[in-house]
Amino acid sequence: MRLAKRLEQLPPYLFARIDAAREKAQAKGLETVSMGIGDPDRDPPLWIRELLCEEVMRSGNHRYPSYKGNPKLHDSAARYMERRFGVQGLGRQHFVTTIGSKEGLANLVTAVINPDDCILMPDPMYPVFGTMARLAGADVVTMPVHPSTKFMPDPRSEVCQDRANRARVMYVNYPHNPTGQVATREYLKSLVDFARERNIILVSDLAYSEVFYGEENRPASLLEFPGALDCTIEFHSFSKSFNMTGWRCGFAVGNPELISALHTVKSNMDSGVFNAIQLAMARALDDPRCEPFLEENRAHYLKRLDRVCGLLGDMGVKIYRPGASIFVWCDLPAGETDSFDWCGRLLDTTGLVVSPGAAYGHFGEGFFRVSLSTPDELIDKALGKLATFLKSNAASA
Ligand SMILES: *Cc1c(COP(=O)(O)O)cnc(C)c1O
Repeated sequence: MRLAKRLEQLPPYLFARIDAAREKAQAKGLETVSMGIGDPDRDPPLWIRELLCEEVMRSGNHRYPSYKGNPKLHDSAARYMERRFGVQGLGRQHFVTTIGSKEGLANLVTAVINPDDCILMPDPMYPVFGTMARLAGADVVTMPVHPSTKFMPDPRSEVCQDRANRARVMYVNYPHNPTGQVATREYLKSLVDFARERNIILVSDLAYSEVFYGEENRPASLLEFPGALDCTIEFHSFSKSFNMTGWRCGFAVGNPELISALHTVKSNMDSGVFNAIQLAMARALDDPRCEPFLEENRAHYLKRLDRVCGLLGDMGVKIYRPGASIFVWCDLPAGETDSFDWCGRLLDTTGLVVSPGAAYGHFGEGFFRVSLSTPDELIDKALGKLATFLKSNAASA
């Protein structure tokens, strides 16, 4: 069969590959446990599911949604942006609803990238950024989000300099997946200043805005900084905040020209998010139960984080404690240099899935990622497998 050439540039999605390896381990009779993908194991709050039921039962909510998204969701999102980030004056022209931020981030590429355009991206990164940009023919220049840059690489620095002078677009992702690291306000402001000086389009992925550990780590929106609205589009998602990755809903907010460009691509590509979901989320954002839920959710993850960090520490694993997100970034054991190989051996011998750092980029090599979206009752078992693996390797070394 003759398929599209561009398919050769599309690797199988990381977690599809990991699923295949996991099935192989299961076929050998191993009991597998995943601390790989970031997919909240708990349900969305009952009251939001009840709002959805109400909207599903309502007549009139079942036709094609508007391509731009439901205006009621955009009005609620504008109030959220003001209440949560102090960003004032946003109107409907600043919003488009997305089928989760993965869709928006992928389709934005078509709207802003020409072949050979240079794009600055974090490395390691959420894989969708780089894959879609390369598919569009972009020249991807990565910035090391690495202990050596304190996870906040300076786009003006030498490491990023080679082709960065030609950069037209820059992706920013704080809180950062896969490392869970957060950025200081000064740093975020410096990125906005850099983009404005050079007419660079800023694409901010804020999927973890509501999953953070302690007030000092409360994530900012890039739109808080002066002039950001001139050049920024920011992707917000309900997936991780409300434990609803399966609902497929989020919104992009920012510069009206960028929003309109994304809207143009999307209107030719998809037909939006079920109105009942958009309306339920519009009501949820305005609901007095919203903030208490987000707090409870953070408290739950924080307990898990403490437990996971404690257990990893006891095994002698070096961790970079996250300020936000549902991930813990860890050094590979001393002497190990190939994260794919190490994670593969861990899965083959114990059945435990964790993510190899190199899957997220060149500067992710030497690390692995543990997800906190594993049910509490499985965490001890999962990390017990890791402890056994580390001990047996130490014994054979
Ligand atoms: C999970 C995740 C997304 C995608 O979330 P959806 O809204 O479910 O598509 C985007 N970016 C990062 C960094 C993520 O971790």
